[in-house]
Amino acid sequence: MAGIKNVQEKYMRSALEQAKKALALGEVPIGCVIVYEGKIIGRGYNRRNTDKNTLAHAEITAIKRASKKMGDWRLEGCTLYVTLEPCQMCAGAIIQARIPEVVMGCMNPKAGCGGSVLNILEMPQFNHQAAVTRGVLAQECSQILKQFFTQLRTRNRQEKEAAKEPHFFTNADLG
Ligand SMILES: [Zn+2]
Repeated sequence: MAGIKNVQEKYMRSALEQAKKALALGEVPIGCVIVYEGKIIGRGYNRRNTDKNTLAHAEITAIKRASKKMGDWRLEGCTLYVTLEPCQMCAGAIIQARIPEVVMGCMNPKAGCGGSVLNILEMPQFNHQAAVTRGVLAQECSQILKQFFTQLRTRNRQEKEAAKEPHFFTNADLG
């Protein structure tokens, strides 16, 4: 089954490239691609702060683009690759879009709905389930997130320290 593993890693690398675009914007680095018959038909990365929009998750953007390309809201025959386990909104959208296959990088134990907090992707009660593969390039996918949050903490600490510096001017100095 080495062939499948190679294909999955190849497209997960494309999803990671998307995550890097989010990182460049100072966004939590999460990326997604949707593949149909060996071609990427939708890409997306997290832009929640940039767009000031809850719906600007990587998966939602990729689903929008893929649906436009397919000319159909149904994404049957597609595989969605995402660097982080989807949230409840995105897992719900994946099921609504009838995406049959989901490949994820690292897990999100506190918020993920692809097996962590909930498993919306594989609920037998719904009329559609996705086949899920977890842990593809999990190391790389979690590393970019860790790097982001470490930098964020350092920046926050520096800002806090700067705020604590004594101010030697009075209101009169400000004119
Ligand atoms: Zn989401």
